[in-house]
Amino acid sequence: MPTAIEFFKLLPKTNCKDCGQPTCLAFAMLLSNQKAKIEDCPHVKQEAKETLAEASAPPVKTVDVGGIKMGGETVLYRHERRFNNPIAYALTVSDSLDSVAIAERVAYIKSLAFDRVGMIFKADMASIRNDSGDAENFARAVKDVCSAWDGPIVIESTDAACIEAAVKATDRKPLIYGADKDRLEAYVNIAKENKCPLALICDGPEGAVELVEAAEKMGFQDIILDLSAQNLKETLEEQTIVRRAAIKKKFKPFAYPMMNKVGSGEYAVATAVMSTLKYGSLVIFDDLKNYEALPLFTLRQNIYTDPQVPIQVKQDLYPIGNPDEHSPIMFTTNFSLTYFTVRADIEKSKIPVWLQIVNTEGLSVLTAYSAGKFEPERIADAFAESGVLSKSDGPVIIPGLVTRISGKLQELIGRKVVVGTNESRDIPKHLRELTSQ
Ligand code: SF4
Repeated sequence: MPTAIEFFKLLPKTNCKDCGQPTCLAFAMLLSNQKAKIEDCPHVKQEAKETLAEASAPPVKTVDVGGIKMGGETVLYRHERRFNNPIAYALTVSDSLDSVAIAERVAYIKSLAFDRVGMIFKADMASIRNDSGDAENFARAVKDVCSAWDGPIVIESTDAACIEAAVKATDRKPLIYGADKDRLEAYVNIAKENKCPLALICDGPEGAVELVEAAEKMGFQDIILDLSAQNLKETLEEQTIVRRAAIKKKFKPFAYPMMNKVGSGEYAVATAVMSTLKYGSLVIFDDLKNYEALPLFTLRQNIYTDPQVPIQVKQDLYPIGNPDEHSPIMFTTNFSLTYFTVRADIEKSKIPVWLQIVNTEGLSVLTAYSAGKFEPERIADAFAESGVLSKSDGPVIIPGLVTRISGKLQELIGRKVVVGTNESRDIPKHLRELTSQ
């Protein structure tokens, strides 16, 4: 990505403000941070526009696989900026299954979904594998899967006629897996004709150069690379080599998302972990158990959370367990992990509570307090907005970590404030003691 100064050199430098920025330099800084588009300046010359578009294109192409964006990354480490497009996980469905068994298999894939910190973690794709070797049967299996699964799909076959039949059986634009050296021409033609992305099965990074250049010569770029790594070490080494060369050296043949097929079992999960950490965009499992899926999906969530934007819940009043006009009122920050931890501990107590969430821009209690975002005025405003004090005359409980603001808060809301616990895990005991008095 060019620097702000490099962008600035190509701008008209008239400071006309038509882009909404006070100066061309301010606009250039937004461009270099990817917070503005070059089209926002109506006065850039076409030639400069092309130079800027070329220079600012992400070093890894974004490939759309049935609505899931893969690649498009601009950095090697997420703390440098952020990662953009989370890795997708697919589970295989064999076309040797009959229609009933396919429906059961799809139901299983759908069951790999977990509600965690207000988000749904789930398997993303079904990958239909042509084990039968029969084109008609493969097309039937694709139709069966698509009738039960409305997400993106992969079609896997080593036979061009089977791939062609499967592509025609759906309007989903599946990812075609995959073209090796021998199948390249036939598969690229099918992919181009049907506007589908295509996985290239490469013999390591060197083989990828050869296949990508041949595909690009045919005018095709919707490419996902499978480097055919055989173990964890190769996955780490090869995917790192490819991504470093793409981002640091702008090496064009490596400017594509990468994928792995990992089989099933512990080693498959370990490889998927490696691919999640180091640059994979898609992993296809033969099978994945739910106890393997939850930690893997959680890892993905961690890696692909923007480190500069904490996950947050909305400022609002959350009734827990049917509270009434005498129920305790608790409050905390809108950092998702704080909210869900406190909520779970209140639920454990079995005591109905009004929980007021205060917008602290996603900061946890002590951090928000230190940053001046959990002051009594802000808390009183949140109470006023939700009207919680008129809904209950129960005790108002302040988190123990910010006891020092209790006096000022009492003054502002005109109600006595009870000091709560420092740790969320102590909430059930505290609530029981408080309500039994
Ligand atoms: S619209 Fe273009 S020329 Fe005008 S201030 Fe913005 S960047 Fe500069």
